[in-house]
Amino acid sequence: MTLTFFLIHLLLVTQLLFSSISLARTASTLSPSAQVSTQSWQILQEIVSENGARPAGSSSERQLLHDFTNRYWSQSTGLAVNSQPVTFTVKGIKKHSANVWITFPGKSEGHLVIGAHADSTGEDEGSQGVTDNGIAVALLLAMGQQLSTMELNESVTLVLFGAEEVGLFGSQAFTAALQADSRFLTGAPFPTAMINLDTIAGGDHLYIHSPTKKTYKRCDKDDRYNSSASVRDSLMNVASANSLPFQLHPAYSDYQEGETGEWSDHAPFACAGIPVGYIEATNFSINGRDGYDGYSQTLHPLLWDCLDHSEKTACYPDRERRWGYIWHTEADRLDKLNQLYPGRLRTQLNAVTELLFNFLTSDKSLQPDGN
Ligand SMILES: [Zn+2]
Repeated sequence: MTLTFFLIHLLLVTQLLFSSISLARTASTLSPSAQVSTQSWQILQEIVSENGARPAGSSSERQLLHDFTNRYWSQSTGLAVNSQPVTFTVKGIKKHSANVWITFPGKSEGHLVIGAHADSTGEDEGSQGVTDNGIAVALLLAMGQQLSTMELNESVTLVLFGAEEVGLFGSQAFTAALQADSRFLTGAPFPTAMINLDTIAGGDHLYIHSPTKKTYKRCDKDDRYNSSASVRDSLMNVASANSLPFQLHPAYSDYQEGETGEWSDHAPFACAGIPVGYIEATNFSINGRDGYDGYSQTLHPLLWDCLDHSEKTACYPDRERRWGYIWHTEADRLDKLNQLYPGRLRTQLNAVTELLFNFLTSDKSLQPDGN
């Protein structure tokens, strides 16, 4: 009996020893991109459990902006984390939000801004804002820790915008301040490129967009609108060189191939003359409520009242209420998404993370770029 007990005990100890060695090996051999993706996934779980929905101007939005950046940027990078108050009025009620950012200095005069909005909407429907836009926020929080250990060619600012869903108030305030004095705001020159991360997972395909050639309506007349596709195309080059599954959406009636509208935080940057690229997971091949505009995100039949799969549209457009939307609905929850698409969010998060890391380390120079 004693010998048997001893042998079983020895076996267990040996197994434990080997499993901890293999865990340690796995952790140490992960690429920086894989480490960031893994940590982003963990941070996303924290955002969901600690914050859930984050309506613009709510305490939950402010908690994400301030507490999480304190936890993941201030405490681990040794660099200053800055914030800017953002005040806005919705339906006559004045509300308070903020932008929060951190800048990693680089060797050249290039300055890349990577931004994501922190607020969510659709809380009345049950949305937790997981894909729109918690997963991108989690990615930027995790990236900050990694960037502080890297030697960067260009300066990189990671910024979380407040109050996007109610009118791009955060990104509008941030670009206004950049135009006034970028060095004062970030310690770096006026940005030479901007990448917007809005809903980088969930939808059926991963796209990279540029702004429309036609000036966005929201830009003031004297703004120096920049419609350059240079950031989009550099990202696409990096994606194809690394066999990452990104694409340009095809041309359709209102938008040329790879071009998108002014509905997210890239728009004020384009208005301010900065070349932008925008990463988004959706499905432009769907004939949605307003045509082929990428607003319907998925052909998953459970997200339609009735899907005509062959025509990629609603069986009865007059009666359809769901239209394959994830964002702003009860589908934008971690539990629901894991059920609908086992593994999809994690796979898409890995792809976006790898794209960004390869882009940051690729041989390119970010220079001021006119139209
Ligand atoms: Zn969004």
